[in-house]
Amino acid sequence: MKLFRFLNKNNPAFKCDCCGKEYKEIPLCFGADYPYHYLSIPKSELEERVELEKSLCVIDDTHFFHRGRLIIPINNYPDELIFNVWTSISKENFEKRMDLWNDEKRTKEEPYFGWLQTNVPTYGETINIKAIALEEAAGKIPTIKSIEENHKLTIDQQNGISYSKAKKIVSFILAQEHST
Ligand SMILES: [Zn+2]
Repeated sequence: MKLFRFLNKNNPAFKCDCCGKEYKEIPLCFGADYPYHYLSIPKSELEERVELEKSLCVIDDTHFFHRGRLIIPINNYPDELIFNVWTSISKENFEKRMDLWNDEKRTKEEPYFGWLQTNVPTYGETINIKAIALEEAAGKIPTIKSIEENHKLTIDQQNGISYSKAKKIVSFILAQEHST
């Protein structure tokens, strides 16, 4: 049945540039476990100063952070490049998010402003660039959009990137991961 092989829509297998490790398909989801600010706190003080849940973090009762999905569309490709990133959020909006946690209507909320707290690989310094978070359906983490003017992350989120650019970004990340 070779004739119909071209109809096979499975994404192509992927081989790591740095070490030849093979993947069933290109890995497209990456992320950070902590907001940038968290990393500046000495280990011995973490317990006292930090409240951390999977996608929420409060430091010193004054700095509020949440995690969301920053999506970069890949043009002419079925999947997107996704980074789980942290942003800051005001205390007021953090409390609002808590109140609306299980509320299906929360998607109607205005976006929450914040400063990005994760460096997105290959996009230069992205700590503290402007971002917004949009509520998704209950149970899902918000969508994060860079709104820093003229920043290439903002532009790529808006326009999407080519598959070959996505591949370059992924190769860069994997090379870093595989070297440690
Ligand atoms: Zn590798």
